[in-house]
Amino acid sequence: MQVAKERRRLRLVKSADTIRDPIMTKNKKPLIDSDAYYKQVEHYAQQIRGTSDVDEIISILDIVLSETKELHFSDEVCAAREQMQHAERKIELMKGELEQLRELVHTDQMTGAFNRRGLDEIFIREAARADRNEASLCVVLLDLDNFKQINDNYGHQFGDNALMHLVTIAKETLRPSDIIARYGGEEFVVLLPDIGLGEGMLVIRRLQNNLAKKCLPHIENQAIKITFSAGVAVREFGEHQNSAISRADKALYQAKHAGKNRVISTW
Ligand code: GH3
Ligand code: MG
Ligand code: MG
Repeated sequence: MQVAKERRRLRLVKSADTIRDPIMTKNKKPLIDSDAYYKQVEHYAQQIRGTSDVDEIISILDIVLSETKELHFSDEVCAAREQMQHAERKIELMKGELEQLRELVHTDQMTGAFNRRGLDEIFIREAARADRNEASLCVVLLDLDNFKQINDNYGHQFGDNALMHLVTIAKETLRPSDIIARYGGEEFVVLLPDIGLGEGMLVIRRLQNNLAKKCLPHIENQAIKITFSAGVAVREFGEHQNSAISRADKALYQAKHAGKNRVISTW
């Protein structure tokens, strides 16, 4: 009688999870920690002490065994999860550092524009895209006017600020897909994907207007007007970067000789 009662109790303990949620028990058994496990083992030991039924004992041992495996499994999962999270954090960190490095390598530190290296990579990508899609790629070379004089009159720091100011206005004026790169001291290359010659000239004139509207403040709020001259070319199918920029440079030369602060295109 005592044994039968115990057997019933054992079955309830044993099958409680299974009855409530067999799928949960079979597939999604919650992970248990070591403390809970040892408490449960003690509980099963008491049940074993309370019965002389071999079948009962075997079934209790089966439960203990499966839960031991479960614990082993959960420990492994926990350890693996911790290692994975650690690895993930390291990978995220490395990814961030690589992205920073990539940006450093491709960006002009003072102005935030792309540098020559960045331009080289982007040009190859944009040129390939233009050829593939039979699209146009407008290439602009611009050069600040009388920059030596600006440096001489207002100081080198003001000159630096002027370069940064130009890039800020350019980023505000251009589309996010357009590119501005520092080509040399006070020379910049602008790439306008999917833009023809006429539209390219309009975009650069708009940049000139925006720059004129937002003068750079100097000491005592004296506003200094900064202007640039630009040469615009549309890259031909298969044309190399140097060739397209050289054509834009010829137009820039004409713009300087025509009186500066103007945009001239080349064919
Ligand atoms: P132009 O209108 O014909 O282009 O005349 P310019 O005075 O702008 O041209 P020039 O080539 O005679 O002078 C360019 C000046 O740009 C000289 C150089 O000191 C200055 N420059 C180049 N890089 C920087 C820079 O990073 N910061 C500052 N402040 N000045 C720079
Ligand atoms: Mg120059
Ligand atoms: Mg200049």
